[in-house]
Amino acid sequence: MGKNFELSTNLKKYFGFENFKGNQEPVIQNILSGNDTFVLMPTGGGKSLCYQLPSLMLGGTAIVISPLIALMKNQVDAMRNFCEDDGVAHFLNSSLSKSATLKVKEDVLEGTTKLLYVAPESLTKESNIEFLKQVKISFYAVDEAHCISEWGHDFRPEYRKIRSIVNEIGAGPIIALTATATPKVQHDIQKNLGMLDALVFKSSFNRPNLYYEVRPKVNATRDIIKFIRGNAGKSGIIYCLSRKKVEELTETLQVNGIKAVGYHAGMDSSTRSGNQDKFLMEDVDVVVATIAFGMGIDKPDVRFVIHYDIPKSLEGYYQETGRAGRDGGEGRCLTFYSYKDIQKLEKFMQGKPVAEQEIGRQLLLETVSFAESAICRRTILLQYFGEKVEDGNCGCCDNCLHPKKEFQGEEFVIKALKL
Ligand code: ADP
Ligand code: MG
Repeated sequence: MGKNFELSTNLKKYFGFENFKGNQEPVIQNILSGNDTFVLMPTGGGKSLCYQLPSLMLGGTAIVISPLIALMKNQVDAMRNFCEDDGVAHFLNSSLSKSATLKVKEDVLEGTTKLLYVAPESLTKESNIEFLKQVKISFYAVDEAHCISEWGHDFRPEYRKIRSIVNEIGAGPIIALTATATPKVQHDIQKNLGMLDALVFKSSFNRPNLYYEVRPKVNATRDIIKFIRGNAGKSGIIYCLSRKKVEELTETLQVNGIKAVGYHAGMDSSTRSGNQDKFLMEDVDVVVATIAFGMGIDKPDVRFVIHYDIPKSLEGYYQETGRAGRDGGEGRCLTFYSYKDIQKLEKFMQGKPVAEQEIGRQLLLETVSFAESAICRRTILLQYFGEKVEDGNCGCCDNCLHPKKEFQGEEFVIKALKL
């Protein structure tokens, strides 16, 4: 019986899937061989299965480090369903009571638990470290591994302690996974986790069904209303930088007869989750939001993502626009750009530590050159992720469909950013 056959049988047995997606199979083989593994795959690519399946096939417990309690709970529930076994997966985080924590530890020590999800702040707790020292560990999976890097879009300082804690608990193979693919972030992760020799599995980050467009921000609100009316009944997300703008724009859209709700971290949690549900259940067409909206939200038929304000980094732009067209259908990505917004973003940075300002400026500059460029948007994005682009003309962005002369502002902006 060949190894591949065994893998496919287990895929079907545990998850009910007929085929592996993308790089899943070679990734899993590498993990089963006990090697360090680095997986770069866009959101929705199927990263979780890359550690879930081998954890079920290996002896011991896999430790999964994951940043969000809500995501952790979803994954644990899903694993228990797939395997029809409540002990197979557990999580350890601050939401558990003392007795629940004891029960988890009991199951893990008995060896019934194949996957133990741990929040990074729980991993740093001395009592948990002592506990994990007694556990037979198959491997460590670091999900959302970009949280390690200050060049990523969601830096978490606790993530930088993972390597030394792993050493303390007992070294084992490490699997790092992320949907962030800039070469800088990739290097940071590998260096910090001490896995520069890991085998790297990188999928293409191209999203052929997304249409990219950047417009000068002259009368953005009017343009947005016109755009939504031209796309009546379709679901869309509009990102704004400030909470105030979210509220203003939501109101303007509502006054204009558009079914819209707002979403930002300043709202109380019941309003926020109520508005999110209205969008997911399609009681409203549009959600106007800060970047607090989106992580872990899986609405496959979002037809457009509008950036009322330019994002702070190309990485952020890619992740946010990536929420359009997850089902493979149409996804229009429209961004409004003005030099004034860049000045505003620059000003926000001024109070921050110098090193952080430098990173912020560099990321902003990359966004500016994207916005002002006259060449294929997809080409710029993919090259930014270190991908080779053959043709350089995607035929599915504003610059390919409506070639224009080079934007005139770049030098001016570079000077203003003191670069
Ligand atoms: P990511 O973490 O890369 O964003 P997920 O692990 O959340 O992606 O998986 C996205 C979706 O793909 C999930 O609904 C998952 O069940 C599904 N999926 C994963 N692997 C397969 C497969 N081999 N066949 C079919 N569906 C899959
Ligand atoms: Mg994931």
